[in-house]
Amino acid sequence: MLARTLQRNVRTVATPLRAAIGQTRQYADDKFKERETAAENQYIHKKQEEQIKALQEQLAKAEKRANDLQAEMSYLQKHPDVTKSRLNTFMSDSQFKDVNIHAALYEARVSGAPHVQLEVWAAEGTERPTFEHAVKQEFKPIKGSDHTFGPSWSTHWVRAALEIPREYAGKEVRLLFNPGCEAMVWSADGMPQQGITGGNGADKRVEYVVTRKAKAGSSVTLYLEVACNGMFGLGDYTIGPPDEHRTFRLQPVELVVRRSDAIALYYDLSVLKQMLDKLPRESPRWWQALSTANAIMNAFDAQDAATLPKCLEIARGFFAARPGDATHQVYAIGNCHIDTAWLWPYDETKRKIARSWATQLGLVERYPEYMFAASQAQQFEWLKELYPGLFARVKEAVKGGRFIPIGGTWVEMDCNVPSGESLVRQFLLGQRFFQEHFGVRCRVFWLPDTFGYSSQLPQIVRLAGAEYFFTQKLSWNNINKFPHTTFNWVGLDGSSVVCHMCPAETYTAEAKADQLIQSVAKHKDIAYTNESLYLYGFGDGGGGPTDDMIERMRRMQNVDGLPRSRHAHPDEFYAHVEKKADGLVSWHGELYFELHRGTYTSQAQTKKNNRQAEFLLRDVEMLSVVAQESAPGFKYPRDELTRLWKLVCLNQFHDVIPGSSIEMVYRDSDRMYADVLESARGMKQAAVEALFAASGLCAAEQASGLLVLNTTTWPRTEVVSVPGGGMKGCEQVRKHDQAALMVAAAVPGGGGVQLVEPAAVAHSVPASAYRESGSGLVVLENLHVTAKFNAHGQLVSFVERRSERELVPPGQAGNVLRLHEDIPLFWDAWDIEINHLEKYRVLEAASVEIVDEGPLLASLAITVPIGSNSHMRQFVSLSAVSPRLDFACDVSWHENRKCLKTAFTWDIRSDVATYETQYGVVQRPTHRNTTWDLAKFEVCAHKFGDLSEFGFGVALLNDGKYGYATLGNTMTLTLLRSPKSPDAHCDMGDHSFRFAVYPHRGAFNESRVVQEAYQFNVPLVQLPVDMQRASKAVAPAAVAEVEGLRKPFFGVAGAPNVVLDAVKAAEDGAQDVVVRLYEAYGGRARAKITTSLRFAGAVKTNVLEEPVDKVEFAAESGGCGGSVVVDFKPFEIVTLRFSK
Ligand SMILES: [Zn+2]
Repeated sequence: MLARTLQRNVRTVATPLRAAIGQTRQYADDKFKERETAAENQYIHKKQEEQIKALQEQLAKAEKRANDLQAEMSYLQKHPDVTKSRLNTFMSDSQFKDVNIHAALYEARVSGAPHVQLEVWAAEGTERPTFEHAVKQEFKPIKGSDHTFGPSWSTHWVRAALEIPREYAGKEVRLLFNPGCEAMVWSADGMPQQGITGGNGADKRVEYVVTRKAKAGSSVTLYLEVACNGMFGLGDYTIGPPDEHRTFRLQPVELVVRRSDAIALYYDLSVLKQMLDKLPRESPRWWQALSTANAIMNAFDAQDAATLPKCLEIARGFFAARPGDATHQVYAIGNCHIDTAWLWPYDETKRKIARSWATQLGLVERYPEYMFAASQAQQFEWLKELYPGLFARVKEAVKGGRFIPIGGTWVEMDCNVPSGESLVRQFLLGQRFFQEHFGVRCRVFWLPDTFGYSSQLPQIVRLAGAEYFFTQKLSWNNINKFPHTTFNWVGLDGSSVVCHMCPAETYTAEAKADQLIQSVAKHKDIAYTNESLYLYGFGDGGGGPTDDMIERMRRMQNVDGLPRSRHAHPDEFYAHVEKKADGLVSWHGELYFELHRGTYTSQAQTKKNNRQAEFLLRDVEMLSVVAQESAPGFKYPRDELTRLWKLVCLNQFHDVIPGSSIEMVYRDSDRMYADVLESARGMKQAAVEALFAASGLCAAEQASGLLVLNTTTWPRTEVVSVPGGGMKGCEQVRKHDQAALMVAAAVPGGGGVQLVEPAAVAHSVPASAYRESGSGLVVLENLHVTAKFNAHGQLVSFVERRSERELVPPGQAGNVLRLHEDIPLFWDAWDIEINHLEKYRVLEAASVEIVDEGPLLASLAITVPIGSNSHMRQFVSLSAVSPRLDFACDVSWHENRKCLKTAFTWDIRSDVATYETQYGVVQRPTHRNTTWDLAKFEVCAHKFGDLSEFGFGVALLNDGKYGYATLGNTMTLTLLRSPKSPDAHCDMGDHSFRFAVYPHRGAFNESRVVQEAYQFNVPLVQLPVDMQRASKAVAPAAVAEVEGLRKPFFGVAGAPNVVLDAVKAAEDGAQDVVVRLYEAYGGRARAKITTSLRFAGAVKTNVLEEPVDKVEFAAESGGCGGSVVVDFKPFEIVTLRFSK
């Protein structure tokens, strides 16, 4: 049943891929016809073959993966102790012998008349008569085989008349005779033939070969002299005095024909069993014996002899190994981990690279077997710019195959904080650099030192042309030991990559024998794969291997007592594992790192800058694509965007964005982010102005209205603000900054534009703020919700008005600000330790004042003293048009080893909370059942965490915080930390950030939380305009869509679960436009992606923007715009490339 399901799964994967291969051929053939020149034809042919080859590889991998799944099923039974006991049961000749190996040992057996007829004569007392005397006596028939011999020391003679069945002709026929005691087989003419040892002991010998080759219908008479004593007399223990009254029961007497292959298998299994009893568990052979025995038991069917050859074949594989064959193979590679910034600034890293790699080039020259790997395209680019001579030497060594660029990314980035698009850009920049300068496409994603790995990485890695993953960081887990070293890592969408975590548990090994021994001893998957990677060389601050290390490696490469080792390209190791691995196990979902949980929060400004840069660049790219298409003369700022993305990617390095670097590093990154944000804002403004100028509009000094543009793909209704006031006729001015407020209603998505006039606002239920008489609670209210705050600034009631649902349980609250003691065990900036949850104080507001009373925005200000030097001011606001309650916080922060959290307790019950991750969500427990659950006491989330039950949920949104935790029905967000190492002033000073609570009907996957979280982070693009001029330029209606810009530039129809995340110009300089979308909720979709821009075709690509599949581009009549329909799998990332 299982096998059939799996086969069906293979077909499910294989069929569309086969279809894709067919389509690709067809597509290429079609294109072929269109082209004229021979050169073009040749090019297309080549491309076609490449593409088909890639698809075929993909198909092969899909099929392999289905096989792996099958192996995984058997793995469940492969808990070693259970499996070892299973073998005992399989060999037992008492329990289960009707279904185990014993049930297969004989192909034929017969007992009773006419084939087996028995008679018996018993001698007097303890007499031991001769054969001649005995055969003359009177024998009495035994009924069937039902007979008991006794008492002790007596002798009984049995006459057996055997008639061999006709169908046994030509076969070896044996007599099974087990009297329970000793006996002698005599021929009819009085010749002793063989001893019998009855019973069920290890010394049992109860088979006698009657004939090696039976003749049809032949008969044989035998005599059996039964002696009523055992091999060791009759004692009740070996040397005890004999029991004089013992009797022995004759077991059924049969003529049998052995099944030779079953017997052979029985002996094979006996040896396997003995090896399992005696070999040490650290021995690869122990695991191989266990998995061999298990595979045999799975292949065996007692009712079907045809399964035996397969079982024997499995056994032969094991027995073919000769002494030494099981020696573990280590693939060694020199490396020097150079943290791109950490306890030193970027500028010093540039020199570290030169120092380290120059040294390594020397070693490459001196030691012909030596190989060295280096990651991070950024480091190669610095070398190229600053040390061109050295770069040329590196290039030569790369060509020679001894200096190996690896990893495929711009830097070895953090994988918690960067967005999905950032992870893609890491590969896009990295792989393109390696391709351009070395002609190399990296196949191994290389992150020895990063602090946890998102569940979307397997898909992104695959889409970036890589297929393997290396790390070792999970060996640092401080609660649970990660159970695997070599395994299939299966991501959120089902994609998988082969992952290896070197069992030596370090990437800075020193070429020592003990580490090589550990490569075997700590290998957790040695049952499937008897090889490992070994990374040696001084690192973190660069350096790499020394002469000493290479000399030692030479001596250790082939020595009895050590594993074999040799230098090799890591690709070779992985390709070997992939091919040879006997069904790797799978690990599904994130590789959560059980340490460094403080890195979701430390260096708050860096994280906020990164978030802002990610979304600003998103807007710039999309608006620039649109402006280039519709505004004459506008040029897509390609080089500047590349420059900025490189800076953003650089600061995502695994010690910078996590917050674990020294202060100098953050002075540098602050400067870089200021550069990125300023330049991006300028480019965005330029694109917007160009876009609107094309419609006859321009930015006005004296604005009387506002043009808004929506870069998300769904319509949005929001209260927008124009800073600085001065806008005539607006209904409300926000108190704290005098910004004019207006409502932008249903702004179309996908670049849709709307003209908003201040006066044209009419709302039946405005937002309001008031103090409730009696209770003294401060209330914010609109059409959707009523929120009540107590004098401590806590949310004590939150009612969704339509359903009248109260979300705060009685006596509980939200916006509970907690100041925790935050003293980790050692790694100050890195770790928030579990004990922080046990020690905190709840902060209480000094004042809660109503600030804005509506009608468009109701808000209150909460002042919270934090400590003697720290304080917070919160603006809590509710607009007239949304149930979302926003908290804007200004904090002056001067604490020491304290962290600040906000906590919301909801009347919602769920065992899991949902958190956003890159291009999707991940669910984590709200309880601490197991140590694996407990370890996730602080987890990383992107724009939101959500707690939902059937019918209702509440999301907690943020604009740059990543540390969440949910215990029971309380969700917390970590706002600030105050570590003192390695940056003595980390996070001291002023901070501004926002979070929000968003209640929704329906559980998470029926909600719009993903969209709301985008809106919270991606404001509507705004351009203040002169309404009089605007009105002349556009339709007369006061609030109208702008003529000519009415149609969205990009839209997603028919799939509310598909999000358009990026629109950009193709990286290779062609005039093509790349659009990236993903399925956000974990389901299927058929999405129609529309565009009003002028394109001629579209193709589905990987994230490197190379075509992987055909899509049908349906052009609109009139030649303006068109659409493609794309099917999405759960959490699938789809990249489309539109061409002219
Ligand atoms: Zn590092």
